[in-house]
Amino acid sequence: MNYERILIRYGEISTKGRNRNQFVSKLKGNIVRLFKDMPNLHVQSTRDRMHILLNGENGEEVMKRLRTVFGIQSFSPVIKTTQSLEEIQLAALELMKKAYQEGCTFKVSVKRADKSFSYDTNELNHLVGGFILPKIEGLTVNVKQPDIKLHIEIRKEGVYLSNEVIEGAGGMPVGTSGKAMLMLSGGLDSPVAGYMTMKRGVELEAVHFHSPPFTSERAKEKVVELARQLSPFSGSIKLHIVPFTEIQQTIHAQVPENYTMTSTRRMMLMITDEIRKQQNGLAIVTGESLGQVASQTLDSMFAINDVTSTPIIRPLVTFDKTEIINIAQDIGTYETSILPYEDCCTIFTPPSPKTKPKKEKVEYYESFVDFATLISEAVKETETVTLSVKRNDVTENVLNDLL
Ligand code: ATP
Ligand code: MG
Repeated sequence: MNYERILIRYGEISTKGRNRNQFVSKLKGNIVRLFKDMPNLHVQSTRDRMHILLNGENGEEVMKRLRTVFGIQSFSPVIKTTQSLEEIQLAALELMKKAYQEGCTFKVSVKRADKSFSYDTNELNHLVGGFILPKIEGLTVNVKQPDIKLHIEIRKEGVYLSNEVIEGAGGMPVGTSGKAMLMLSGGLDSPVAGYMTMKRGVELEAVHFHSPPFTSERAKEKVVELARQLSPFSGSIKLHIVPFTEIQQTIHAQVPENYTMTSTRRMMLMITDEIRKQQNGLAIVTGESLGQVASQTLDSMFAINDVTSTPIIRPLVTFDKTEIINIAQDIGTYETSILPYEDCCTIFTPPSPKTKPKKEKVEYYESFVDFATLISEAVKETETVTLSVKRNDVTENVLNDLL
């Protein structure tokens, strides 16, 4: 189909009062960046709507990518014709054929901005409706509650037709809510937590802890892949890979076994917080879900969280595993997450970690080691990679059910 433009309707942005322009310009910037490989495309924004003028670029590809952009409520592809009645009728028929499903009803809705147009609203309604009806078997008119509304807008410079409203990803434009660090493991939960946080407009950088040779290169690659899978939602994503072997071994040697997990988590949190400071982030995001494992009881969270006063966002805290799995499948991270490579935590997990650790005790055990130095060394040796979408294999199964 030869679309001329895509009309974009804002989501929650439209409820923003005075800050609205900022939200709109962030959304516009995100969209422009998403299409930088399509130089002919032109994005125009107003307070209420945005238009992407395709100028010959592929409309289907543009719409596929738009589904990953937070801050968009819905969008519609639009065809442009001249004011020739025949052209309008043929374009209308083409659109209706594409949208028609068995038993559908429709209605033509004409807006006549150019009052000098040869036909009035009623006449055009009949001329277009009457042209389409006999050509699509089973199609009927319903003016009160049509399944398909065919909009025709007559303007001086041309006529715009559209009938499809595609739901967008919702949420807020990424970057309108500041930046946070996502603690990204290779599991199911943290990518989902990252997705949900980005949806609220937060820009993310990911932090991953690995412990070679106890964790393999493939385990690291899996996390790189997960970060890449999250990147379409924000354009690109930075991933900080922290060498964690020495700290884990030290914990293992110095802290009583049933407290190693608590201490490991505290160290991870402290390191993530250091990286956050360097990168000017404002919060830390984790995939924790209450009661899921020993480190995620409230007692554990209390003892672990004590190392920082930085806000910690836990989007999944009240989610069941099945709910998390559903989202992982929708955003396309599930298959990667279930690959069986060891995470540093799994390897060092004691047989019976404390489910009710005491923060005074863990502080005491840690006091015999100079963890501050080990932490700053780990931060210094952190490797950073920036990941972005590999074009062509993007977003096939992204967002199917969330939309
Ligand atoms: P996930 O499925 O994301 O691995 P999980 O259910 O396995 O979560 P834990 O292993 O207890 O839970 O991890 C809880 C959270 O701690 C993770 O969601 C993640 O945010 C963070 N985390 C765990 N391991 C790592 C790691 N190796 N690197 C970075 N963050 C981690
Ligand atoms: Mg894990």
